[in-house]
Amino acid sequence: MAHFPPAFLDEVVARSDIVEIISRHVELKKSGSNLMGLCPFHHEKSPSFSVSPDKQLYYCFGCGQGGGAFQFLMQHDGYSFPEAVEYLAEKAGLALPLDAESRPVDEARQKQAYELLSQASQAMGRALAGEAGAKARAYLEQRGMTADIIRDYGLGYAPPGYGFMNRVFGHDARTNKQLEAVGLLFKGERGYGDRFRDRLMFTIRDRRGRIVGFGGRVLGDGEPKYLNSPETDWFHKSDLLYGFSEHRDTIRKSKQLVVVEGYMDVLGMAAYGLKLGLAPLGTAIGERQLREIFRLCDAPVFSFDGDRAGRQAAWRALERMMPLLKSELKPRFLYLPEGEDPDSLLRREGRDAFQHRLDHESRPVLETWLTGLQLLAGQGADGRARMAKKADAMLATMGDNYLRQAWRQEVEQVTGIVLQQSRRRIPQAASAPNMPAAATPRLTAVEERYLAGLMQQPSRFRSLPDKAASFFVDNAIISPLYSRAFSIIADAEDDKTDIARQLAQAYPDSQTMISRWVNQATVQDIEFKSLLLDMEANDIRRRIKRGMSLADAIPAETRLREIKREQRILTEQLHETGA
Ligand SMILES: [Zn+2]
Repeated sequence: MAHFPPAFLDEVVARSDIVEIISRHVELKKSGSNLMGLCPFHHEKSPSFSVSPDKQLYYCFGCGQGGGAFQFLMQHDGYSFPEAVEYLAEKAGLALPLDAESRPVDEARQKQAYELLSQASQAMGRALAGEAGAKARAYLEQRGMTADIIRDYGLGYAPPGYGFMNRVFGHDARTNKQLEAVGLLFKGERGYGDRFRDRLMFTIRDRRGRIVGFGGRVLGDGEPKYLNSPETDWFHKSDLLYGFSEHRDTIRKSKQLVVVEGYMDVLGMAAYGLKLGLAPLGTAIGERQLREIFRLCDAPVFSFDGDRAGRQAAWRALERMMPLLKSELKPRFLYLPEGEDPDSLLRREGRDAFQHRLDHESRPVLETWLTGLQLLAGQGADGRARMAKKADAMLATMGDNYLRQAWRQEVEQVTGIVLQQSRRRIPQAASAPNMPAAATPRLTAVEERYLAGLMQQPSRFRSLPDKAASFFVDNAIISPLYSRAFSIIADAEDDKTDIARQLAQAYPDSQTMISRWVNQATVQDIEFKSLLLDMEANDIRRRIKRGMSLADAIPAETRLREIKREQRILTEQLHETGA
C-alpha cells in the first residue's frame, strides 16, 4: 500500500468535506450538532446513520459502519485507500507527494490498465458507428436501442479478423503485453490475437464506474453466443453486476431492482425507461453479487424464464440467498411466460404491462421456496417426508434465527412433520457481512459513554484527575489510544484541537469505534461527572480485587464511600434539572 506522510493526510482531510461526500448518496437532516440519514450500508426505515460535521466522522448505530472521508469512499464506493486519498487530494487541489514510495509501480499499472480499457471501449463505439458496424447497428435498432442507450452504456462493435486492437493501440511488445493483461488480446502460437472478433460489444464497469472488461455477443450463428473478458486483475466476474454503476442511484431512489439474465435484458428495460435492471455476467448469481443486491434494495425482484432451465436457475439463486435472508429483506421471484425475457415482453406488451408483472405476478421468496420444495419432493407420504428433509437441510444454512423458525413452522404445517436439524442454533456471524473485521475491544456501557464524552469535548481531558490516566491500562486496544489522546491534548495550543480526527488517523483500525463515540448522543456535563466517578470507582474495585496492601485498601474504601455520596448528589441535581 502506498505510504502517505501523515501531514499530507491531515491536509487532505482538513480540506475535504465529509458532509458533501456523503450527501451525494444519503439525504441528511440536522439533528442536534450532527446530521442524520438513512444508512447506505444497511436497510432501515428510520435513520440511524449519523454524520458529525465538526469531527468529519460518520457512524451507523444500526450496522456499526463508521469512519472518516477515506473510509466512506472505501466502504461505499469501493475505492482502495490510495485511490481515496488521491481522489480527495485532487478535489482539494492538493498535489500528491511525488516521492517514489507513494506512487508504487502497481498504481501506475492500474491507471494504465483503466486507461487502456476505456480507450478500447471508445474505439469499439467508433467501430459501431462506422461502416463495419452496419450489421451490429441493425441488430440494435431492431432491438429498440436508441442512440442514448448506445452512448450511455458504451455499446460497441469489434470488427471481424485480427488486428483491430493493434490498429488502435499500435503493436509494440509492451502494448501487446498490456492488452493481454486486460484481456483484449490473447497469446496464441502465432503471436497475439484479438479476443473479440465480429461481435456486438458491451462495456462492463465496476462499482466506481471504471471500465474493467467487456462482453461480446455474436451477430449470427457463431459460438459461443456470449463471450466475456477473461478473469484479469481488474475483471472478476463473480464480483460484478452488469448495470450496477449505471443504475445504482435510480435503484436507491425508486427502491426497485430487477435481477435479469443478461445484458440485453438490462438494456431492453433501460430503453423503456426502467433503469432498474442488473444482471450477473453469464454465470449463476453468486453470494457476493447477492450481498450487493440486498445492500442496494430490500425488495429486489429476481426474474427468470418460466421454462425448466429458468426454474432451476431460480432454485439455485434461492439456495444461494438462504444464508443472507433476514426478516427485513423481501426478495420476490418472477417467472416470465415460457421463452420470453424482459426484453421480448417489453417489446410485445409495453412498459405498463411489464411493471404490472413485477408488482403483481412476482411471488414472495417464502412462497417460491415452498412451491419449489413441493415440486422437488413429489406427492404422497414419502413426498412429504422428502420435502421435510430437504427443507430441514436448507433451513440449517439460514443465518437469521427468527426467520428460520418462522419458515420452519410453515414447512411443518404443510408437511405435518416436525423438523429436527434446523432447530439447532447457528452462530449469527455469517449474517453480519458489513461488520468491520478489526478487533473491537470489550467496553462497558460506562467506559463507552466516558470515552464518548471525552471525544465529543476534548477540553474535558484537562480537568481529569491524575488517576484517570491509568483507567484503561488493562485494555490492550484502548490503552495506547487513550494515552495518545493525553499527549495530543498536552501538545495542543488550545481546546479546539480535533482529537477524534487525529486519533482516527493515528489508529485507522479504531476509526469506526472513534466515529461511534463522536456520533453518539451528546454526553452532557453532569452525565460526564457521573461517568468519571463510575470510572474511578471501577478502577478502585479492580485494584482491590487484584490485591493491595492494607495501608492502601483503607483509603480506597473510604474513597469508594465518598464516590457513592457524590453520585447521589449528582443524581439529585440531574432530577432537579429535569434531565
Ligand atoms: Zn447502517
